[in-house]
Amino acid sequence: PVPANRKPDWLRVKLPIGESYSKVRKLVDEYKLHTICQSGNCPNMGECWGEGTATFMILGNVCTRSCTFCAVATGRPQEYDEDEPRRVAEAIRLMQVKHAVITSVNRDELKDKGAEIWYQTVRAVKETTPATTIETLIPDVKANWDALIRMIEGGQEVVSHNMETVARLYRYVRPQAKYERSLEQIKRTKEFGKRNKSGIMLGLGETKEEVFQAMDDLVANGLDVLTLGQYLQPTKMHHEVIEWIHPDTFAMYKEEGLNRGLAYVESGALVRSSYHAERHI
Ligand code: SF4
Ligand code: SF4
Repeated sequence: PVPANRKPDWLRVKLPIGESYSKVRKLVDEYKLHTICQSGNCPNMGECWGEGTATFMILGNVCTRSCTFCAVATGRPQEYDEDEPRRVAEAIRLMQVKHAVITSVNRDELKDKGAEIWYQTVRAVKETTPATTIETLIPDVKANWDALIRMIEGGQEVVSHNMETVARLYRYVRPQAKYERSLEQIKRTKEFGKRNKSGIMLGLGETKEEVFQAMDDLVANGLDVLTLGQYLQPTKMHHEVIEWIHPDTFAMYKEEGLNRGLAYVESGALVRSSYHAERHI
């Protein structure tokens, strides 16, 4: 086995260089946008930005939550930028993005959980570049189901909500979230008629049986697409990597997931919920 403090070879990635990469970087700065690629120190930036795709993070870059795996800053957010939807849409147009992925921080302090900005962003993209398909990776609305509907009624093709881990580890990994509540959010998204997607990170100490249970729960709640990837520790202050999952194990999970009734499973060390997202429509 590979020692926990050393990354195995299969996690080596390309360096972020090239013309497309610089173009994306320039647009993101110029339009004062945030991306989860940068905030989350994503290992795929070289590849994705080099291909002209990025995941925009709306509603600021300070989050009301403190998930122990996440590199986004926790605090009391100040930003509420009504012009952000327009700038996101404009950046997507200039980048000629065919499939846009948009996510946000959690805004638990807002009555509508940020739903109106979400709705306006999806509408702005659809009006600016009608041919662009959209995937929205939305936060936990804390059972505010009116907010959920507003977030998902703007015309996006895919709605994603990440479970992140198995039920037993929620209190160490997603302390302000609830496993059952996230499942219900996924179920309600399906009932609304959306293609439904979720992601789980592996290597946080979960057992195989717990991953299978999560798959069964997701199938029972109407999930279509599941992504499974290796958890990487953003800084020493974050949750430890308990295990490096071998590529063969990722392949096994893919097969299990399909056998258990998921329509599509993307499983591999470098898989992130927004990785190869254009395949999940
Ligand atoms: Fe950004 Fe997602 Fe690509 Fe990572 S996988 S660089 S977060 S688009
Ligand atoms: Fe990070 Fe999302 Fe958790 Fe906020 S809610 S800390 S952005 S994973």
